[in-house]
Amino acid sequence: MYDIQKIREDFPILSRTVYDKPLIYLDNGATTQKPRCVVDAMVDEYYSVNANVHRGVHFLSQQATNLHEASRETVRRFINARSTSEIVFTRGTTESINLVAATFADSQMKEGDEVIVSVMEHHSNIVSWQLQAARKGIVLKVIPMNDKGELLLDEYEKLFSPRTRLVSVTHVSNVLGTINPVKKMIEMAHAHNVPILIDGAQGIPHMKVDVQDLDADFYVFSGHKVYGPTGVGVLYGKEAWLDKLPPYQGGGEMIQNVSFEKTTFNELPFKFEAGTPDYIGTTALAKALDYVSAIGMENIAAHEHELTVYAMQRLKEIPEMRIFGEAEHKGGVISFLVGNIHHFDMGTLLDRLGIAVRTGHHCAEPLMHRLGIEGTVRASFGLYTTKEEIDTLVAGVSRVSRMFA
Ligand code: PMP
Repeated sequence: MYDIQKIREDFPILSRTVYDKPLIYLDNGATTQKPRCVVDAMVDEYYSVNANVHRGVHFLSQQATNLHEASRETVRRFINARSTSEIVFTRGTTESINLVAATFADSQMKEGDEVIVSVMEHHSNIVSWQLQAARKGIVLKVIPMNDKGELLLDEYEKLFSPRTRLVSVTHVSNVLGTINPVKKMIEMAHAHNVPILIDGAQGIPHMKVDVQDLDADFYVFSGHKVYGPTGVGVLYGKEAWLDKLPPYQGGGEMIQNVSFEKTTFNELPFKFEAGTPDYIGTTALAKALDYVSAIGMENIAAHEHELTVYAMQRLKEIPEMRIFGEAEHKGGVISFLVGNIHHFDMGTLLDRLGIAVRTGHHCAEPLMHRLGIEGTVRASFGLYTTKEEIDTLVAGVSRVSRMFA
């Protein structure tokens, strides 16, 4: 049984108030709250183990290294990678994408070569490529979508050319909630012998991801969106690809031998991990992954699906409600506008009722242009969101709407 009350007790912040109202936290797309076990793991490690990893012969350093490398194994198991060599720790999704964009463009692309992205990408999966476009003269091609917010796979197919070198698309849209058919999209890319990166920032927290089953070449995500700490994320890459790519940053950890004449690089995954890693963060990330695994990703997905169906139905009862994103496969992210009420006004007034939602373009301005709007109000759910919270959201949105009527 999905014991939501028991789950909520694991998250101290959920029992606080804002403006004397119980907090209704519906901004999980931006970041998730942390269960006690995640924060405790960080405090415990700082107080009782803290030492730099991979360097010391002393006891604490070895203990910290063991924790750090055990976390890599936890991540490997969580996404079912073949080997821990394929798990690179980064600062988050953004750094993971930038790492691939920079090293892939440098080593695999020439002027005029093409990368396919989609119209619903987060800026991190657009601008990272544009930086390389400016440096190397590579070209971005964009998969369009229909009005329900579903990518058009026929159009995707037509974008492949002999110059296509990589596809980079999001698993789940952080604005529309669309769950893209990434397995099919990976298959289509591979039919053209093109590798593909999946931005899993909004996928990993909400569903079981198996990188071998998907056959993704790269899969990236952030710890803080999956109930883990800020400042740590993951780049999964097939070993064959990671081997081909040059180092991203230079420094300690990523080298084998250094002289002024020649430096040789460390083996995978350390080749991509220059400098002291956030080893406290990786321990806490592993705790978070163990935490969601214990609840069960399938159970979390089922709970959030039920909430999404319920919220869509209830929100649509509000007059002049416009929902952006009605894909058949949709996760717990709902973007909306009501009548002519500015998203910022709606968000500010909901905040006064204790309801935390996100407003604005959600780092997806090209998608806003496609939708012909400047921004939306976005409610995004997590494993601890309740039906009662959705009722409060609906009542709040109705109340604000009546104020403007
Ligand atoms: N991609 C998507 C789809 C996202 O939702 C986000 C975070 N909003 C990112 C990338 C960037 O993640 P981060 O800021 O943690 O690097």
